[in-house]
Amino acid sequence: VKSSIYKPLTESEAIALAKRLQLFTENSNLTCKEIGDGNLNLVFKITDTDNGNGIIIKQALPYAKVVGESWPLTLDRARIEAHALLKQSEFVPQFVPKVYYTDEQLAITIMEDLSHLQIARAALIEGKELPLLSTHIGEFLAKTLFYTSDYAVNQHFKKSLVKQFINPDLCKITEDLVFTDPFFNHDTNNFEQELGQDVERIWQDQELKLAVAKLKQKFLTKAEALLHGDLHTGSIFADENETKVIDPEFAYFGPIGFDVGQVFGNFLLNAFSRNAENQEVLFTHIETTWNVFVKEFSKAWKNDAAEIFAKTEGYLEDVLSEIFEEAVGFAGCEIIRRTIGLAHVADLDTLQPFDKKISTKQLALSVGSELIKNQKAIKNPCQFKEYVKQTV
Ligand code: ADP
Ligand code: MG
Ligand code: MG
Ligand code: MG
Repeated sequence: VKSSIYKPLTESEAIALAKRLQLFTENSNLTCKEIGDGNLNLVFKITDTDNGNGIIIKQALPYAKVVGESWPLTLDRARIEAHALLKQSEFVPQFVPKVYYTDEQLAITIMEDLSHLQIARAALIEGKELPLLSTHIGEFLAKTLFYTSDYAVNQHFKKSLVKQFINPDLCKITEDLVFTDPFFNHDTNNFEQELGQDVERIWQDQELKLAVAKLKQKFLTKAEALLHGDLHTGSIFADENETKVIDPEFAYFGPIGFDVGQVFGNFLLNAFSRNAENQEVLFTHIETTWNVFVKEFSKAWKNDAAEIFAKTEGYLEDVLSEIFEEAVGFAGCEIIRRTIGLAHVADLDTLQPFDKKISTKQLALSVGSELIKNQKAIKNPCQFKEYVKQTV
């Protein structure tokens, strides 16, 4: 099927495309609804009203709506998202949506409809346990990251992969919104005036800012593995049995600890929002994510690491401890930017009453700063709990 040049689809054009691609039978009765919640992409859900079967068409828009302005954003991210999903499905098909069709010109990916699952952030806010979430995410991280890294991949092939996933526009968003703006008085920042003193303390903290600059430099230069790049709990669909990771449009070759740290950071953001007696399940999710990651990464290493790495004693342990140290720092950056930066999380923003929201955000800022400054002291995921309990 030959596609036209780019234009944003309407709902009826989305239906026509699905029919043209024979994703449904000729006479199906189809409904279509645009369900995207972001400012960057359209998400069409097309359903056959006779049997309930459906598909999703995700289409990139050529701009992002931010702070009232329009920010041009390459459509190439749709190609990156589709290729990242396909690459991840080589290692963990059980944890990503099936891709049915992609079109670079139209900037679309057509994929499995996951509406039977719930976005993990929403489920955690409702207090659902999602008992397998961290087991699955630990395995997702270990396999997608190990098998796209130089530890496993022939160096020549690895460089051809790096080239496919050059993603400067989306990386720039992270470089600015995660590693820069929240630590300076930038107009993208967004926080309640009651947090003014806490924010000022961050902006004055030279030790903190030095550590953040080093983390940013790692993000810019360490092409270790193909990251998801935006692995917050809003990018995960889950229920009691299943977990699916969506939305890898920020994929690029970066430091493994970044993906791991975003997962830790988002579990912690949800933990902050809970009373002490309900926090334990989140600390357990963090520990399980890391323990499963270590187990699966080590297994993959034993089976498939290139000889120079596999046969060098102590090297695996060294790699794992560096990933953990970086993840602690990246988790701290994620927590701070989700509290005072441009893009917030509902875990904190929906807290009531107002005083409780403010005091919880103060806790988030303190814990985030402590993680960044104590990357080397924190050796084990059990210690996150101590930092949350000790910090006021
Ligand atoms: P964005 O990059 O704009 O954040 P996402 O890929 O995260 O887009 O999708 C936005 C929303 O669209 C999701 O939160 C979810 O509600 C819905 N969505 C996306 N992909 C699917 C899917 N495969 N099945 C069902 N709903 C989906
Ligand atoms: Mg979104
Ligand atoms: Mg998303
Ligand atoms: Mg996205």
